[in-house]
Amino acid sequence: MTDVRHDRAPLAALENGNPFVDRHIGPAPAELARMLDVIGVGSLEELADKAVPEGIRERSLQLALPEPVSEARVLEELRELARRCRPHTEMIGLGYYETVTPPVIRRNILENPAWYTAYTPYQPEISQGRLEALLNFQTMVADLTGVPVANASMLDEATAAAEGMTLVRRAGKVKSPRFVVDADTLPQTLAVLETRAEPLGIELEVADLSTGPQGLPDGEFFGVLLAYPGASGRVRDQEEIIAEVHRRGAMAVVAADLLALTLLRPPGEMGADVVVGTTQRFGVPLGFGGPHAGYMAVRKGLERQLPGRLVGVSVDADGAQAYRLALQTREQHIRRERATSNICTAQVLLAVMASMYAVYHGPNGLRQIATRVHRMAAVLAEQLRRSGVEVAHQHFFDTVVAKVPGRAAEVVAAARREGINLRQIDADSVGISCAETTTRQHLAAVWRAFGIGDAVDVDELDAQTPDALPAELARTSEYLTHPIFNTHHSETSLLRYLRQLADKDVALDRSMIPLGSCTMKLNATAEMEPITWPEFTSLHPFAPAEDAEGLLQIVSDLEKWLAEITGYDAVSLQPNAGSQGEFAGLLAIRAYHRSRGDTGRDVCLIPASAHGTNAASAVMAGLRVVVVRCDSEGNIELDHLRELVDKHADDLAAIMITYPSTHGVYEDTVREVCGLVHDAGGQVYVDGANLNALIGLARMGKFGADVSHLNLHKTFCIPHGGGGPGVGPIGVREHLAEFLPNHPLQPAAGPETGVGPISAAPWGSASILPISWAYIRLMGADGLRRATLTAIAAANYVARRLDSYFPVLYTGQGGYVAHECILDLRPVSKSSKISVDDVAKRLADYGIHAPTMSFPVAGTLMVEPTESENLAELDRFCDAMIAIRAEIDKVASGQWPLDDNPLVNAPHTAASLAREWNHAYSREEGAYPMGTGVAKVWPPVRRIDGARGDRNLVCSCPPLEAYQS
Ligand SMILES: *Cc1c(COP(=O)(O)O)cnc(C)c1O
Repeated sequence: MTDVRHDRAPLAALENGNPFVDRHIGPAPAELARMLDVIGVGSLEELADKAVPEGIRERSLQLALPEPVSEARVLEELRELARRCRPHTEMIGLGYYETVTPPVIRRNILENPAWYTAYTPYQPEISQGRLEALLNFQTMVADLTGVPVANASMLDEATAAAEGMTLVRRAGKVKSPRFVVDADTLPQTLAVLETRAEPLGIELEVADLSTGPQGLPDGEFFGVLLAYPGASGRVRDQEEIIAEVHRRGAMAVVAADLLALTLLRPPGEMGADVVVGTTQRFGVPLGFGGPHAGYMAVRKGLERQLPGRLVGVSVDADGAQAYRLALQTREQHIRRERATSNICTAQVLLAVMASMYAVYHGPNGLRQIATRVHRMAAVLAEQLRRSGVEVAHQHFFDTVVAKVPGRAAEVVAAARREGINLRQIDADSVGISCAETTTRQHLAAVWRAFGIGDAVDVDELDAQTPDALPAELARTSEYLTHPIFNTHHSETSLLRYLRQLADKDVALDRSMIPLGSCTMKLNATAEMEPITWPEFTSLHPFAPAEDAEGLLQIVSDLEKWLAEITGYDAVSLQPNAGSQGEFAGLLAIRAYHRSRGDTGRDVCLIPASAHGTNAASAVMAGLRVVVVRCDSEGNIELDHLRELVDKHADDLAAIMITYPSTHGVYEDTVREVCGLVHDAGGQVYVDGANLNALIGLARMGKFGADVSHLNLHKTFCIPHGGGGPGVGPIGVREHLAEFLPNHPLQPAAGPETGVGPISAAPWGSASILPISWAYIRLMGADGLRRATLTAIAAANYVARRLDSYFPVLYTGQGGYVAHECILDLRPVSKSSKISVDDVAKRLADYGIHAPTMSFPVAGTLMVEPTESENLAELDRFCDAMIAIRAEIDKVASGQWPLDDNPLVNAPHTAASLAREWNHAYSREEGAYPMGTGVAKVWPPVRRIDGARGDRNLVCSCPPLEAYQS
């Protein structure tokens, strides 16, 4: 017999075929060829040669990354790594507790692309679902803490406490730089406060407040941080201390446990000005430290000082209730160095999960969970006492401290043999924290670890043991009375509520999200799957490192791979957002100068085009921001830079630039810029948010930068989650490596000489690192490079197609852009009076998510298509923009009146079509601009009145009517 199939590939090639790269990259070869044709180049390589300046190219760069493997193989490898994690029952406490994620929440939020691939809700008309979920979050936090206004959300408890400290300093009247910290504060919170306080000249004073107000130091201080309950588990009335703090003109920040507050009088009722903490134990897995949503709530009068994002209620053009981000002008990208904080990406997905945990359980369910936790702890303590073990505190919520002189290590080791991690506080004391998952079997195992026999009758003990909460602190006020927390208690009902909310939003599962600077690329399912595996989700961040061997392998692989990709010598994965990476990187620069006796270097040069977080981070790091002008081409004005470098020869600390620039251009002067600053003794920080335009072509660590942060939630496939989580690792050159972040509770997390922790957890949001690990493993060096080239091609294709309708504002050498382009709407806006806002809202009628609006240049749209969109979707976007241009022309020519056309009336809801129609255009022109043959995504609300919502700020759930539509 003869073989008739001569054209088949050999078995070896079939076996090693790696189709993932072709799945990740949108355009098929034939599509790519058409795109290159429109751009006017023959190949991706030719495009790279023409677009990327020779000065930064590493021509023969072959990234030393492992050979790529298939999705199935990557999942096998991750399973292997998961097997090398051995989570114990985690009773360590310290702000991290086991919790049960209701499966309906896990599957329908955490594992649902409609939620996890969404972007930050800057386009509120197509983000009503997650905005409602966040409003529920804010209501939940405000109700439980007893202070009226909460934001959504903070990065973790420790940074929330640090933001609380700076908030009260900003808002208060006391001049003293002193901030008093309760000695019973979580150790990681205290350490993060120290990192944050030092550059700002804030003096921390740790005070033993266990005896009440007399523990406060003499002299002035501007604020106090109190712990409720404390790290020791102890619960004490804070009212007298707060009254005394106020009497002395200062303000009180209280770090509180939300679950405890279902049973305890809330800090707001004791006069707290600010309340901070974490919502982790509301159904968000431990995940070896994160991600989880921190929270912050403030009393009346401080709402305009709140850092981060705040969801507010307003109305749409038809007077219907609608949600949007409130007080947008406070956002750091507008206020820059005057911003309240540098927070940009927060923890939205986790905040949504926590809010739904409260929606699902309701006030009674939460109270029951809290009571169970408390009763387990009370019974645990009682048996210890009966067996002759001293219990340190009479009053506690979930944490018992047992005194075992000289035997603490032995008890902790015995508990580990029982499969339980306890906290060894010192040689003589052991901390045991109960959680939602604690059972009587766990109690028995803990007792055995203390040498107490099995013959304990738990029910009898329970009957005889009173609560360990002070009677005068029992909560009497109601909470979570709003219908939203009292409706969806059956799984069917919650399932439908989640679906109903998700259906209001446009995420990557519906449309490309062409956001400049934010790289909304594919978040592959295979990359996402491992993050809910119990081996990764169940680890306590302060568990012995040997429990987390597999995840620590992922950490060290990623550190190595990211160093290779960026050309740096060392990487820290601790920062849990880009903003936090910026702060960490600038701290490293500051520490470096100081280590050389250069204490006067405190000027940070930042180009006018920079992302607002840059300036805000510089201020947090104790640096003075000096702005470098950009020329009409959008490039750094070199003459101005020379002038500034001369002027600041003695006090120049650093320049902070973005590469390629936020104008979407490869500036060919970058080496010169780096050289100028280095010659003057300064360091170069390159914001790596645009790394998607560089991988495989050039490396910042090699073209002159000293430190960069990367955004794993942009370039490396961690989904945006509707505004978080993120991971913002930093890479540094060798001389800065000793100044990377570290952690007091995990020596392996950073150098001993480091700048201290900048996140609560040693490796930040460790449990989502498998996503980026899988991406790199799946793509390999060639795949990553191809992704870069394809992203550049996609941006140049869009730029070419749209340039004659909306001119591309800036281009680099040869007229090419990098991986994104800015479309200038100002000329056509000027002649037609149609604004960039109108165009963005109109895109919602076309079923497409708007690009970035008015950043970095007002009146423009910044488009970053990424490598993951195929030609059909790129064309759908371009066709929509071209059609919109034709609509604008109809307004400009007077065919449609300026006050009644599909642009100013956009977006159109289904309800608006059902009403009487007396517009200058047809219903079909309004709602089906591309014809009725296309799938329609209906925006749930019409244009939202932002200004009105800011004047009349409402940041918690509005009355019932909103839920009856
Ligand atoms: C996204 C971004 C940041 C901030 O990163 P976050 O993770 O949102 O804190 C900083 N700089 C640039 C250029 C960015 O695009």
